[in-house]
Amino acid sequence: TIAVFGATGQLGRHVLESLRSRGVAASDVRAIGRSAQRLAELEEQGFETARADFDDPAAVRAAVEGADTVVLISASEPGKRLAQHGAVIDAAKDAGVGRIIYTSLLGVPASDHTFAEEHRATEELIAASGIPATLLRNGWYTENHVADFAAARERGVIANAAGEGRTASAPRADYAEAIAVVATEDGHEGAAYELSGDTAWSFADFAAAASRVLGREVTYRPLTQQEEAQMLEGVGLDAGTAAFVAQLSADTARGLLAATPGDLSRLIGRPTVPLEDTLRTW
Ligand code: NDP
Repeated sequence: TIAVFGATGQLGRHVLESLRSRGVAASDVRAIGRSAQRLAELEEQGFETARADFDDPAAVRAAVEGADTVVLISASEPGKRLAQHGAVIDAAKDAGVGRIIYTSLLGVPASDHTFAEEHRATEELIAASGIPATLLRNGWYTENHVADFAAARERGVIANAAGEGRTASAPRADYAEAIAVVATEDGHEGAAYELSGDTAWSFADFAAAASRVLGREVTYRPLTQQEEAQMLEGVGLDAGTAAFVAQLSADTARGLLAATPGDLSRLIGRPTVPLEDTLRTW
């Protein structure tokens, strides 16, 4: 059994599809999440399901029982994630699972990206557990930029503090396929892959691509971090969230999401889907 935490989420949905298309029977996959409605849908499709909140150790233990492989898609609330991931790692160790696959962040352990610390600490917990592991250090999802494309469509302007920083994004489906590949192939234990899109684009490139797709002029306006935070507060974000988002843009400006080592296309055996192709589907 391949037990997948985060199976009810957006990346998880693609992981389940990729496992199926690689010939894994739905009954050999345990989909784990909180959403009762989504779990019911997955059960309908033949998947084994387990309802478990990361904050409920007993439920997490029950969810990993009997699994050969645990896929730990990282949790979604920054600040709470280390304890949540730790609960899964402890349970997997006690249950004697054969291996764990964890979705980390591009550039960890060296990265000082805002999200790096929890991923680095999780990688250390996994190493200390002694469970054979594969680390998939994910770069940015192209889908993180849906709102930028909407701004391009509605106003013809994209503005943020990323400056000339580049992002080697790929769509979630590409990262999901990599999870399915390592979950279904031998020989990935002990490996850490730096997953990212084949091409790193700047926001000027994004604006140019959006312009071609939309058939209207789209410009990119670089802002300082403070200007971006002010702009976001101006459209209704609370001060904390606005500052956080601007901080992520500053991380991008520093090139922390730009690496293109090619691990993702090598693992999935094809080029990653280019930015412009994804924009055409929005
Ligand atoms: P989603 O928010 O769509 O899915 C998150 C998944 O985690 C859901 O299945 C959710 O379960 C589950 N989850 C969250 N908190 C808990 C909890 N306390 N207990 C149990 N399950 C929990 O995120 P995505 O699929 O888009 O992304 C997957 C992960 O990737 C994120 O959680 C985050 O760590 C990371 N990420 C990476 C980005 C990137 O660009 N590389 C961008 C954004 C996130 P349920 O829905 O059933 O509650």
